[in-house]
Amino acid sequence: MALYVHKYGGSSVADADKIVNVARRIAAVHDAGNQIVTVVSAMGDTTDELIDLAQTVSSEPDPRELDLLLSTGELVSITLLSMALRNLGYDAISLSGPQAGIRTDRTYGRARISQVDPERVRRELDQGRLVIVAGFQGSTPDEDITTLGRGGSDTTAVALAAALEADRCDIYTDVEGIYTADPRVAPKAAKLAHVGYEEMLELAAAGAKMHPRSIELGSVYNVPIYVASSFTDASGTLIHQTSDDGEMEDRIKVTGIAYQTNVAKVTVCGVEDKPGVAAALFEPLAAAGISVDTIVQNTSADRTTTDISFTVTTADLSRALREVSQLKSSFGAGQVMSDETLASVSVVGSGMQNTPGYASRMFRILADGGINIDMITTSEIRISCIINRDKAHEAVRLLHEGFELDEAG
Ligand code: ASP
Ligand code: MG
Repeated sequence: MALYVHKYGGSSVADADKIVNVARRIAAVHDAGNQIVTVVSAMGDTTDELIDLAQTVSSEPDPRELDLLLSTGELVSITLLSMALRNLGYDAISLSGPQAGIRTDRTYGRARISQVDPERVRRELDQGRLVIVAGFQGSTPDEDITTLGRGGSDTTAVALAAALEADRCDIYTDVEGIYTADPRVAPKAAKLAHVGYEEMLELAAAGAKMHPRSIELGSVYNVPIYVASSFTDASGTLIHQTSDDGEMEDRIKVTGIAYQTNVAKVTVCGVEDKPGVAAALFEPLAAAGISVDTIVQNTSADRTTTDISFTVTTADLSRALREVSQLKSSFGAGQVMSDETLASVSVVGSGMQNTPGYASRMFRILADGGINIDMITTSEIRISCIINRDKAHEAVRLLHEGFELDEAG
């Protein structure tokens, strides 16, 4: 008997018909003789609506109260799904995150899972029940309700799959899987049958829609994650540990092109070129919870001052500028400039490791397309260029074609 964890996103449970559709899918897995735990997100845009509702009474809602409010979205969908299953004659039970043993730290709004106590879920499974768990939520040691950050239900599902030692974690959504690029931008994008955790992490962090922490967890606990559509029976994408044997042709290719359009750049000019300046600049940003992506430091010709540029998301830009301007005087910085019209495009593939030529090829493709590169960063399996946002979609298409990812026919 296999044990599966399924996760259905907000669009898959957006209305009553869709909830019944999900109920039928889960029932079929049970009927085939398997155990199944299902994690669901809030219906449709419920979480956004709850955030808007909070804003109507407070411009800065109290974080504890906001998390408790947001957690209600998932309570609606789990109870309705359980009722739908019972209506079909199945013994289903819904559990909140805390009831399912999801324990977190106290960081409201983006809590991290500290532990999963799977006893209750196991007990229900052992009684032959179909268990439905609220995604995106957990509880602190003081039994306060926390949420895991937007899109966090993916992480709930993979964490449960790890704790239950499930055979697989299936993430059902409104797209058929992971593609070589966003199909809305690059119409010739192809669906990937499989992808490694590391590559997926780069693709997720660089634009494809999955909670990156779920991929990290999958990788650490070696949970195979299958991403597919809840609306069709088309085969999806398996995210797993890619083996070194086989797939030789695939391993030397670029896996996909990712992009992000919410990139802003901050440049701090004329800071003193001495030890401790970068630490003094980035420590307060980290403390403020602002994550910094690309960082470029140039040494000026006279070697006494330098310019430091870094990127943040456009949502974090005003906070980042506030932090930086408070610090400016302490290290003799001159002007602070910002640009919020940027995007990043990335070429991702584990085959790029230790293989020269990918970066120059990327720069050539962009150059031939008349696209200027503002900043460049690389990891072992990714090369990212910061470019003008107006050019982002075109860059994705050009790179997709240039790296021979366009689907034939
Ligand atoms: N409902 C939450 C959100 O919209 C969690 C999720 O969808 O995974 O962010
Ligand atoms: Mg959602």
